Amino acid sequence: MAVAVWPRNICHVNHLYDISVIGAGPSGSYAAFLLATAGYRVLLIDRRRIEEIAPVCTGVVGRPYAVLMDLEPDLVLAEAKAATVVSPSGSRLRVASTDVQAYVLDRTLLEKRLRHKAATAGAEVLDGVVISRMVRESDIWVIRGSRDGCREMFASRAVVLAAGVSPGLARQSGVGSPRRYLVGGHVEVEMDDVPETEVHLVPDLAPGAFAWLTPVGPYRVRVGVLSMRAAMHLTERFLDRPDVSRRLRSHPVLVAQRPIPVAPSRWTCSHGLVSIGDAAGQVKPTSGGGLYFGALAAQAATEVLGEALSKDDLSLNSLASYERLWRSAIGRELHRGALLRSLYTRMSPGQVDRLIGWAGRTRLADRILGSTSFSFDRHSGTFFSALLQSLPAALSGATPPRVEAE
Ligand SMILES: Cc1cc2nc3c(=O)[nH]c(=O)nc-3n(C[C@H](O)[C@H](O)[C@H](O)COP(=O)(O)OP(=O)(O)OC[C@H]3O[C@@H](n4cnc5c(N)ncnc54)[C@H](O)[C@@H]3O)c2cc1C
Repeated sequence: MAVAVWPRNICHVNHLYDISVIGAGPSGSYAAFLLATAGYRVLLIDRRRIEEIAPVCTGVVGRPYAVLMDLEPDLVLAEAKAATVVSPSGSRLRVASTDVQAYVLDRTLLEKRLRHKAATAGAEVLDGVVISRMVRESDIWVIRGSRDGCREMFASRAVVLAAGVSPGLARQSGVGSPRRYLVGGHVEVEMDDVPETEVHLVPDLAPGAFAWLTPVGPYRVRVGVLSMRAAMHLTERFLDRPDVSRRLRSHPVLVAQRPIPVAPSRWTCSHGLVSIGDAAGQVKPTSGGGLYFGALAAQAATEVLGEALSKDDLSLNSLASYERLWRSAIGRELHRGALLRSLYTRMSPGQVDRLIGWAGRTRLADRILGSTSFSFDRHSGTFFSALLQSLPAALSGATPPRVEAE
């Protein structure tokens, strides 16, 4: 095997790892955990130290994620069986199920727990290191960065790029970047009268925008806005709406915002490297949820890298099955979700109002929720066909047939 030539004035040069995972967010830490459990020498690197973890994320996940990750009860802040959709003019449509549809997680604890699990499984976890340069030399990845002003260098046979939205690292790695982004604004506030999640369709604030209020404990509510731009500003405007501001017990100090990739990269593997999670754009375009799909991608990456390492063949050809594996698991959902999002972005506030009114009278939402093909994580197909059937009539102004509850 070829050996890298280490430059001088490097503070830290470690031995050769099987796999470096860059980014210890939820996707990267889970991948490191799986790879270390499978017996590989794994290095997990993140620029944030454990005490700096402060995710901009509401932390809502469906049952499949909870089962897959074997989530401990202390990670779950709230369970959700119902939600209310609020139209631009303020009409409300409640959608309820007898089963728990989603869990709201302690997002900071989730990240700490996943890093800890990776370390316990045998991964070496290095935090406070900002990676700035990656290059493949003689069949190994040489990764350069800095920590506390000191230059660092690592080497591994393979890399999992899980650094979230990092176009520079993606370029150096030879993989694509997500092709489209939305922006998510987020803040936790104290509010009265938010017993369950509210989803506010607010295309009047910006085309395609929606907002949410998610209760996580007594008076504690996570507020978010997803839009094409200026999400921080739109979150502040959303909080100023009379229906929201009258319930606020405290005014938010600081709204944070972060890009959300909503169209996956065209290619997610190169020689000896795969990208996963937000780095690859594996995020639901409808809701901006990326935790579950990032975990599925981590599983696919582990399977393919494991096989490639055992055959000692980390060529592009050998890793191409990662691309096929994750696309067959979630590609269709991402594609339909993108169509739904683009449909919603084209609708005026009046059209959204008419659709919500129609959905209420025809019990459309209940039918979607009751459909066997619907789940919290895989909903785009059911939504899409229901909308195609109802949209022309809903927008025509015709009086809908009233469907009574069974
Ligand atoms: C407002 C908002 C609300 C959301 N709500 C939900 C939700 O309710 N449910 C859901 O499923 N998803 C939600 N998401 C999306 C979810 O947060 C992301 O999909 C998820 O965090 C992706 O995880 P990841 O590990 O792929 O990337 P990230 O969480 O972005 O982690 C990337 C890691 O890489 C590290 N890193 C980056 N660059 C470098 C570097 N150069 N050197 C070293 N380390 C580096 C970062 O410090 C970070 O720890 C939300 C997003 C937003 C913005």
